[in-house]
Amino acid sequence: NREIHLASRPQGWPTEDTFRLVETEVPTPGPGQIVVRNQYMSVDPYMRGRMNDVKSYVPPFALDAVLDGAAIGEVVASEAADIAVGTTVLHGLGWREYALLDAAAARPVDPTIAPVSAYLSVLGMIGLTAYAGLLEVAAMKPGETVFVSAAAGAVGSLVGQIAKLKGAGRVIGSAGSPAKVERLRALGFDAAFDYHDGVRESLRAAAPDGVDVYFDNVGGDHLEAAISAMNLHGRAAICGMISQYNATEPSAAPRNLALVIGKRLTLRGFLVNDHNDVRAAFVRDVSGWLRDGTLSYDETIVDGIENAPSAFLGLLRGDNLGKMLVRV
Ligand code: NDP
Repeated sequence: NREIHLASRPQGWPTEDTFRLVETEVPTPGPGQIVVRNQYMSVDPYMRGRMNDVKSYVPPFALDAVLDGAAIGEVVASEAADIAVGTTVLHGLGWREYALLDAAAARPVDPTIAPVSAYLSVLGMIGLTAYAGLLEVAAMKPGETVFVSAAAGAVGSLVGQIAKLKGAGRVIGSAGSPAKVERLRALGFDAAFDYHDGVRESLRAAAPDGVDVYFDNVGGDHLEAAISAMNLHGRAAICGMISQYNATEPSAAPRNLALVIGKRLTLRGFLVNDHNDVRAAFVRDVSGWLRDGTLSYDETIVDGIENAPSAFLGLLRGDNLGKMLVRV
């Protein structure tokens, strides 16, 4: 069994030296436990925050211990009455080839409905984040103009498409390269721009009538530009601020927060975990859209547990189109 440990706590950008590949014995299950051979594991931006030794909504990773995070795989040994060998399960012990779990910590999924990787992207936490953030937190209404940042990423690409499917008037996305901008147009975004060309100017040009809903994945300059472009009573779902995760100094932007008053804006942070109430509607809508082909999802897959650190670093740099995953 090979697994990835946290070798040091990064200051600023993590590097390959942040991680260590460690060989251990394949575990054997005790009573009530299962062993899962992981097939895919997720690397996610929030993991960068867990590398810092600070109190947050998830505890920090421990130094010199295996990392964790969402993964999916097949049960290869079971001492649990209710989970048989061969079952595909979703669980929280990624960053390793073999995971030892209490059966209660694993959620069996049907591998015939969709490729199993989809449970780590469109059909899982990522999809629910996009769905709940847009429709519940920002309460998007038909006809409105929506702007989403990191729009070619896992959450962002779904936000833009779901907005169109739910009747948005105009959907605008920003991303970090011309190829990503091309992809956004192909996914049905009405306008898309490369933020290296200037967020404020590009957004003004793309949204001449202003923005009603901003789905923020980036923070900083993007949030500032969105506040400037937002219409009266606009709402921002604050999902993530990836532009800050490796910063060693706090960002000055947004410098225009006072506009929130006159425009009566709502800026609302959220965590996907609090939105299980929309899960049933999410599963119904998303499975329907996947079935009839109206919703697409991209995946960028890196092979091998030994390459999980570079997959994570690549995610922070923007090497991914859609969800960044490791095939273990
Ligand atoms: P993505 O697939 O969007 O990957 C991250 C992307 O961020 C990269 O591809 C890169 O694309 C972009 N990026 C990196 N640095 C910058 C920067 N300085 N400025 C602008 N863009 C940047 O990741 P996810 O879809 O998994 O997550 C998206 C956001 O949602 C993150 O902020 C994450 O923390 C947040 N999140 C929040 C949840 C919640 O419950 N609140 C749940 C899940 C995710 P590019 O090439 O375009 O720069």
